[in-house]
Amino acid sequence: MMEIRFHGRGGQGAVTGVRVLATALYYDGKFTQGIPMYGTERRGAPVSSFLRVGEERIDERDLVHEPDMVVVLDPLLGQTVPVTDGLKKGGLVLINHPRGGRETGLGGEFKVATVDATRIAMETLGRPITNTAILGAFAKVTGSVTLESLEKAVLKQWPGRIGEVNITAVRKAYDEANMPVDVSDIEGIEVKPVGMMDRDVSSWRIFRPEIDAKKCIGCRRCYIFCPEVAITMAEDKAEINYKHCKGCGICVEECLVEAIEFIQEEI
Ligand code: SF4
Ligand code: SF4
Repeated sequence: MMEIRFHGRGGQGAVTGVRVLATALYYDGKFTQGIPMYGTERRGAPVSSFLRVGEERIDERDLVHEPDMVVVLDPLLGQTVPVTDGLKKGGLVLINHPRGGRETGLGGEFKVATVDATRIAMETLGRPITNTAILGAFAKVTGSVTLESLEKAVLKQWPGRIGEVNITAVRKAYDEANMPVDVSDIEGIEVKPVGMMDRDVSSWRIFRPEIDAKKCIGCRRCYIFCPEVAITMAEDKAEINYKHCKGCGICVEECLVEAIEFIQEEI
């Protein structure tokens, strides 16, 4: 089984991209499981989505924590989101980037493939929606889905002219993708979560989330859903940076083991 994690920003189509790819792989006779992550539905905010592919029925239902592959739809996302977290040794990163894999700022025990998906999307769709271009590159660098099935899945998602221009994006990206290169001798750039460089929103808060570390099972749901990137993971426990927490309560709702309590601030 192959496990893949997609990273993008709201508006780039990461969730739809996973759905189209899962459909294409199904047409190729594979078993698939797509796990969309809704919640931070805000243009520009980091979003994730997950995909499992196998030759047999897939029974896992958990989020993907240790992917074989990471797909990144935004060239700058790797500076603020730890996109290679948990990536298996020898794994693969496919990133939307205008240059080759050794010039992306990513480094470690994995390989990096690239495609200039933003340019291709602008040339074909006229908008920076990079999902179909990245899928064309996925077909090229992994060889695990046929172009024929990918195009059929694109037309199923967008019948008519929109589907046709997306197919053009798929084909262009397939032709132009840069194959994976080793980056194990490169030290990756330091990831600076946006929240760390961002404004102080603590004064917005009426309630504050408090995590009970004993109850926290390290599932990362709060980390993924927090719209302010105020949550970090340390030794499989969630921690909140209160300067960047606006008290929206999303983490409280998303924690399935009720490890986060919502407590009213003193006024
Ligand atoms: S606090 Fe809850 S949602 Fe967050 S990592 Fe821990 S168990 Fe998961
Ligand atoms: S309450 Fe704070 S930590 Fe929780 S999701 Fe909202 S901003 Fe993030």
